[in-house]
Amino acid sequence: MKIIQESDDRYKLLDKIYSYNFTSISIRYPDGYLDYFIPPELVLKDANLGDSIVHRIESYNVGDNLVYPNKLSILLTKTCSLTVQELFDLTVLHINDTEDRPKCAECGIPIKFSGEFQRGYSRHHWLDNPSRNLFCNYEHSTYYMHHHLDEYPHMIYTVDALSSVGNDPLKQIKAAYKRSLQYEDLTDESSFYVAFTSDGFKFGISIDSGSRMNHLDCRSFKALYLENYKVCLLEYLIKIKLFELHQLTSEYVPDNLIKSFKSNFKKFYQKIINLTLEEFNGINYKITNNTFVIDRF
Ligand SMILES: [Zn+2]
Repeated sequence: MKIIQESDDRYKLLDKIYSYNFTSISIRYPDGYLDYFIPPELVLKDANLGDSIVHRIESYNVGDNLVYPNKLSILLTKTCSLTVQELFDLTVLHINDTEDRPKCAECGIPIKFSGEFQRGYSRHHWLDNPSRNLFCNYEHSTYYMHHHLDEYPHMIYTVDALSSVGNDPLKQIKAAYKRSLQYEDLTDESSFYVAFTSDGFKFGISIDSGSRMNHLDCRSFKALYLENYKVCLLEYLIKIKLFELHQLTSEYVPDNLIKSFKSNFKKFYQKIINLTLEEFNGINYKITNNTFVIDRF
């Protein structure tokens, strides 16, 4: 279906409309404020809502058509008869046909629009995905990257067979890591907890840290909420490191290793806190293919 029909006066302005891009529509100021620019070529009806003046191309003045994020949707409907998704299609993707909307690079299913201009058809900020491949789910993104290493050069393709790395404790840590990734949505949040018990301390991941705390019967408990993929990776990296440093195999860590735990927690926390899902997929691929990636961290 066409977004702007041929009978629409705006149809002949499509070239001009296609000259806009993400950053000319979504304007981020140095102080962090965000405005959206509604191209005057798209406006059918002027609007003057006090703080937002939206004009057609004929009556447009410099400084017009900048609107607050929370007014974008309503003003687009009112002045352009367009949705945020359609604005995104026209000015960022430069398409005028809903058939041309992005599809999963792996399976070809149309990708759901996020609902926000900032994210477009992505789960994250639109500009965080430089490859422009989009995926309908996590499995498809991992599978695709696995088979298109030329497009994903950040995925260093070194495969040390698990058997050559060694022994059971590592296999166990890796198996636990794989289990921990069985979340429906890797961008939802869960907690990374540390529980201090009479047998030493224990750390890991919990969706419900409250019940975990009661279950463990501990004298003190700390939990930190982060996206699932970050907690999974954090737990994995610390466990691998503690094994490497102290040959630690038990789930319960002796209290005298608390300093070592804290310094490794701090170090890895800083590495993972700003990790994008895209970067995580690359790292995850290496982990699941038997490279422990501790070197990169
Ligand atoms: Zn797919």
